[in-house]
Amino acid sequence: MESVAVKPSEILRRANPAHLHRLRHTCSHVMAMAVQKLFPDAKVTIGPSTENGFYYDFDRQEPFTPSDLKSITKEMRRIIKTNLPVVRQELPREVIRQEIEKLNEPYKLELLDAIPEGQSISRYFLGDPNQEPQPWWDLCAGPHLESTGQIDPDAFALESLAGAYWRGNEKNAMLQRIYGTAWETPEQLQSYHQMLEEAKRRDHRKIGKDLHLFSIQEEAGGGLVFWHPRGQQCGT
Ligand SMILES: [Zn+2]
Repeated sequence: MESVAVKPSEILRRANPAHLHRLRHTCSHVMAMAVQKLFPDAKVTIGPSTENGFYYDFDRQEPFTPSDLKSITKEMRRIIKTNLPVVRQELPREVIRQEIEKLNEPYKLELLDAIPEGQSISRYFLGDPNQEPQPWWDLCAGPHLESTGQIDPDAFALESLAGAYWRGNEKNAMLQRIYGTAWETPEQLQSYHQMLEEAKRRDHRKIGKDLHLFSIQEEAGGGLVFWHPRGQQCGT
């Protein structure tokens, strides 16, 4: 009997949203750690999870390039394979302020000042906090996975670069945003990419139809395109 292929959308529906949130947010920290290892001049800001992945905004003079994304991906895989524990530590505001000042991270100081009085303040280490030198850490409320090894090194991808103003205000510094996507399994990542491709293909068809360049005859078999005279003149 012929096996019925599971639709990509169905594969993605099986993912656990709460787990995806923790996974993606942890991925954003792993990316920030990788970026600061490779580009020590980059200043960290924030790195939330998003609907399909995560991003992190950096302040850095030089623009990141697509080739940088490849190096960052490689370093992220190394961090994942090292299986560093993700360790939460709560500290009094003044202690954490001194720690941030030592690292010379001005954006983190601003974030610290924005935390209301009376609220607990935590940082997360990627690594054992008792180790020397002190492992990489980020001011954050969580939640995360328990260790970087819980991320599948073949189920994430860095996708694109964009500019973003600090705190979304155009009067502030322009930061560089790196977008990534992350899933529980390589199969989910592949399904996500398939869905993106499908959406792009549909969009392309729509643009073509709007310009009256061609029509698509579904009954003639899937994506068979019939070029109209105007489309022929314009070429593709
Ligand atoms: Zn975090």
